[in-house]
Amino acid sequence: MSACANYDLIVIGAGIVGASCADAASAEGLRVAIIEPGPIGGGATAAAMGHLVAMDDDPAELALARYSLRHWEAFAELEEAEFSRCGTLWVARNEHEYQAARTRSARLASAGIQAHLVDAATLYELEPALRPDLAGGMLVPGEAVVYPPRVARHLVQRALARSATLYAGRRVVALPTGGVRLDNDTCLSGPVLVATGCALPELLPMLPMRARKGHLVITDRYPHLVHHQLLELGYADSAHGDADSSVAFNVQPRPTGQILIGSSREFSATDAEVSPAMVQRMLERAFAFIPALRGLQALRSWTGFRPTTPDGRPYLGAVPGARDQWVAAGHEGLGVTTALGSARLLVDLILGRQPAIDPTPYAPSRVTA
Ligand SMILES: Cc1cc2nc3c(=O)[nH]c(=O)nc-3n(C[C@H](O)[C@H](O)[C@H](O)COP(=O)(O)OP(=O)(O)OC[C@H]3O[C@@H](n4cnc5c(N)ncnc54)[C@H](O)[C@@H]3O)c2cc1C
Repeated sequence: MSACANYDLIVIGAGIVGASCADAASAEGLRVAIIEPGPIGGGATAAAMGHLVAMDDDPAELALARYSLRHWEAFAELEEAEFSRCGTLWVARNEHEYQAARTRSARLASAGIQAHLVDAATLYELEPALRPDLAGGMLVPGEAVVYPPRVARHLVQRALARSATLYAGRRVVALPTGGVRLDNDTCLSGPVLVATGCALPELLPMLPMRARKGHLVITDRYPHLVHHQLLELGYADSAHGDADSSVAFNVQPRPTGQILIGSSREFSATDAEVSPAMVQRMLERAFAFIPALRGLQALRSWTGFRPTTPDGRPYLGAVPGARDQWVAAGHEGLGVTTALGSARLLVDLILGRQPAIDPTPYAPSRVTA
């Protein structure tokens, strides 16, 4: 590939993950190429809620989230991030869930994330619109929400300002040894980082990936109805369970005063159409926790696909059996939260440095061994 433009790193895909990798690599002084056929952050990233949240049921996922959340702090004052530190309030329906919240808050605290139990009286002080018979909850005050596609654009702009090159409107169609070939037959040479989310198997078929469909609904502006990102404590069962379809109560106050209502998960739905039946199921779940939502004006609903690996952990590391090929993909419903940490971990591996967290749990070789 000697006649091809040469780069220190060719990042394929500019969702939040590829954009974060391009930013982190260019900050290290690498000459970076970014290839994106559509809008920057226009894939799963544009469909996301933008909740920055630590899930604690998998220690590896928690370690990555914690590492990443630390890096998100640098965006707290950045206009483009639309960062809002609303905190996360996990809601317990009964004593059993309240006790589970106790275990979870201890796990988060031992990972260095401030979390505390709230009794029922405090729960209603924090969120008066919740239905009356709940047992309490767990508050994670430091968590926040951002606007992911805008962050992705900002990260790409920052990389371009450090002399990265964007191949906009172009798609990588092949990974010949030593680089990539684009859909207009242009070739680029250099180490490659594949960050194409759900499309990963098109370029790396040995790394299994399923697209997990999700729906969201956004309302008109109701600025004082909810104050925190609200989730049911059973959310992890929906997020990490294997059910073909599930819904969970997951509601977010946008900085605009709009309310974002989620969430659903489906493995077998492959079309991007909004399903009225699934939206209804998801909304009924939300109405069961906040009855007043039923009377609000919904403006829009949309779908997106979460890139999901067989064990739910992202692929971060060297492509098995290949030279100078790397992958960062498969972040399911946590890719916004974990993008910044994923990027730093990858760049450390590429530069031959020891990453700040153990990379073993995310090694792509775990599925090909
Ligand atoms: C409904 C929903 C809600 C979510 N809510 C949250 C949340 O609140 N918090 C959170 O942390 N995460 C959330 N997520 C998950 C998050 O959106 C994803 O994990 C994350 O966006 C994945 O980013 P990505 O960059 O890997 O993929 P994408 O954003 O899909 O980017 C991949 C990019 O690769 C490009 N591409 C594909 N093929 C090629 C090719 N051959 N050549 C070049 N480019 C290519 C695509 O055009 C695309 O832009 C949510 C997801 C959904 C669907």
